[in-house]
Amino acid sequence: MESGQIRLNKATGEWVIYAPSRRKRPQDFQQASQDKPELINHHKSCPFCDGNEMEKEPILLEIINPDHSHWQTRVVANKFPALTTLESPERTLNGIYMIMPGYGCHEVVIESPEHQQTLATMPVTEVEIVIETYHQRYLKLMEDPQTMMVIIFRNHGKGAGASLRHPHSQIIATGIVPSHRRWQETEAQRYFDHWGRCVYCDILAFEKQEKKRIIEENDLFVAFIPFAAEVPCEIMIIPKQHQADFGSISEAEKTAFTQILHDVLGRLYHKLNNPDYNYVINTAARYKADEPQLHWYCQIQPRLTTPAGFEMGSGIRINPSIPEVDAAFLRDK
Ligand SMILES: [Zn+2]
Ligand SMILES: [Zn+2]
Repeated sequence: MESGQIRLNKATGEWVIYAPSRRKRPQDFQQASQDKPELINHHKSCPFCDGNEMEKEPILLEIINPDHSHWQTRVVANKFPALTTLESPERTLNGIYMIMPGYGCHEVVIESPEHQQTLATMPVTEVEIVIETYHQRYLKLMEDPQTMMVIIFRNHGKGAGASLRHPHSQIIATGIVPSHRRWQETEAQRYFDHWGRCVYCDILAFEKQEKKRIIEENDLFVAFIPFAAEVPCEIMIIPKQHQADFGSISEAEKTAFTQILHDVLGRLYHKLNNPDYNYVINTAARYKADEPQLHWYCQIQPRLTTPAGFEMGSGIRINPSIPEVDAAFLRDK
């Protein structure tokens, strides 16, 4: 029997188990797809469809499409926010326990006026407007000095936590930096203090040299399966130039990021039959934007497996797929 392997994520210090006896080929996950897209453009009960959302939530940002005929993206406050700015981030004690009001912002980015669209099937020019929307809201939310961190994320499909079919992402700004994030910062700092280099830049250089986990590359970004990917077909998209803060992205980088994000989402859509997935833009918290050891990236995790008791007890994921095999599968057009 083939022996298993445990790999270390160099950036986070976390282990991932690869179990050959449970191994699956990437194409084995093709059936794990969500419902086929609805074929209607407009849904009368969808709060994000044109005309329905206006009466419900104020529009925080609207970007008009290039021919100025219609809105292309809109940002609205989440109707059921996890956090609100009505509160303050002031901490108090309740006996031995710390507590703070639910301070923060929770916004929805409506990515298209068309109900049945998704990023993978939208024209790349429309996806670029979504990225522009992310950037504008990110900068705006960071203007509040009480905001410590802005998380931009997308839940696609029921298995990834999306409750509405209409294409949308979410943005949450918080008044706290969680220990999960601090832990990653500490690992990156430890590496920098040891070697004098950014661990993410080193990973990027090695991946470019090895090539076997790379899916797609353009002038400014690389998309690859991480060496210690936690789940089958996990993808990391990272800017080639060292940059800690998503807010610092240039116009040329926005175009290049859009192109590669659209490309890899298209590969997942076509090769795995529209799987559920989450992606998140991992970027520096406030005061960390100029750090030489932090490097922003987009992390995409398809929801093809379910974490169970061992993961809960150990924090270690068991991945039934092999990163190099997944990369070859997604690389082939
Ligand atoms: Zn809709
Ligand atoms: Zn770097």
